[in-house]
Amino acid sequence: MRICMIGAGYVGLVSAACFAEFGWRVDCIDKQPQRVAGLRRGEMPIYEPGLDDLIERNVRAGRLTFDTDIAAAAAVADIVFLAVGTPMRRGDGHADLSYIFDAVDDLAPHITGFTVITTKSTVPVGTSRRIEQRLRALRPDAEFAVCSNPEFLREGSAIEDFMRPDRVLVGCDDDRAEDVMRRLYKPLSLRDAPVMFTARESAELAKYAANAFLALKISFINEVADLCEKVGADVQEVASAIGRDRRIGDKFLHPGPGYGGSCFPKDVSAIIRTARENRAPLTLIETVHHVNEERKLDMAQRIRKALGGQLEGKTIGVLGITFKPNTDDIREASSLTILPILLHDGARVRAYDPQGRKHGEEALPGVEWCEQALTVADDADALVVLTEWNEFRALDLDELKSRMRGTVLLDMRNIFRPQDAEAAGLTYQGIGRPQTVGETETNRAGEPLIQKAG
Ligand code: NAD
Repeated sequence: MRICMIGAGYVGLVSAACFAEFGWRVDCIDKQPQRVAGLRRGEMPIYEPGLDDLIERNVRAGRLTFDTDIAAAAAVADIVFLAVGTPMRRGDGHADLSYIFDAVDDLAPHITGFTVITTKSTVPVGTSRRIEQRLRALRPDAEFAVCSNPEFLREGSAIEDFMRPDRVLVGCDDDRAEDVMRRLYKPLSLRDAPVMFTARESAELAKYAANAFLALKISFINEVADLCEKVGADVQEVASAIGRDRRIGDKFLHPGPGYGGSCFPKDVSAIIRTARENRAPLTLIETVHHVNEERKLDMAQRIRKALGGQLEGKTIGVLGITFKPNTDDIREASSLTILPILLHDGARVRAYDPQGRKHGEEALPGVEWCEQALTVADDADALVVLTEWNEFRALDLDELKSRMRGTVLLDMRNIFRPQDAEAAGLTYQGIGRPQTVGETETNRAGEPLIQKAG
């Protein structure tokens, strides 16, 4: 089986390397010459744990190659995957399909023999049909079928997710293509991963529905966390209690500074557009989008409040800028909303991220970058944890405190224990936990609602 993977980004590279690991021969095409040249030298354009070894092994075995030119790879391919970006379109928030259709145009002249063309990119309902129509117009003579095979991997654990998926989803309405896709995924079905075949529209929509639901779960627990703070409950305890209910499940019940990343914000926005266009509005998901946007602003407000309402002249140390740990991806991360507000209002912002600095330097002008986590605390009036990298969990709180000018620790991922922070002399504020920073709020009768910890 010969595979041509168009796009060497997070999804394309991981998928190409994993298919090669199954034993298939994979040619991975990317239009960025520097990216391809780097990959040929063994340099990874992205950070994903384990990816460098997997690629190195499969390149050495002769199963994985990289190129900028699609011609040769497309001509011999049984399957061509489209794994290019589908970012949010400026203006209306829909998915920008220009990369998809550019790739289809590049591919069309080189289709030789029966070829299955499959979208791995997240694309709106109806895109497979549109690709088919476009290819049919460009190459009326070609033999091909278009399938949808959305990818559910998570950055940071992408290889494990690809190799042990909860399910593989293939939208397909062609028997020959179904045979090819079954053969492709046989190594996974032999490991008991369910390979589901559905209508193409169902597969396309399922990807968006999955991300919208996960975003909803995050926004739900974020709002519950706000309520916990008002009534003296601890969201960790609430999440743990409800998560044990199998109807609810314990995943995606971690409160934080709002979801980000390359998928949730744009996919939520795109499914909202699709739903409106089809006059079946997803009002629940529209609210999720709104709640998440507000949350990021609210987090900046919390920092201001914890510093007495004034950011001018304050130094704020930030731990983590990526949208989650184990990735260098900062697309739509909450840091991109929060840090510019702090800077705009006169704060000095010093940040450290184990992998995010390269992208951060471009996206966050004005931020001072530290070489290690501890030095972020130097002269800081407040420390803010935005990403739950493991290396932050073991930080010595006494040392952090001794380097700081102030005492405020805003732990927006709840990675520290409040009592440990307080024992180190820090004034701790987590998310959805009883508060020690800020004013005690009262109910209508003037009784305190928030119990001061300790
Ligand atoms: P990415 O931006 O990391 O990578 C896309 C790559 O495609 C880039 O290297 C770009 O140079 C290349 N490219 C664009 N047009 C090309 C063309 N015509 N020919 C060759 N190469 C081309 O994107 P990504 O994060 O890998 O996402 C790709 C798709 O997968 C998106 O639709 C995304 O929504 C979806 N997805 C992403 C994730 C994730 O965790 N990143 C998970 C599931 C699904």
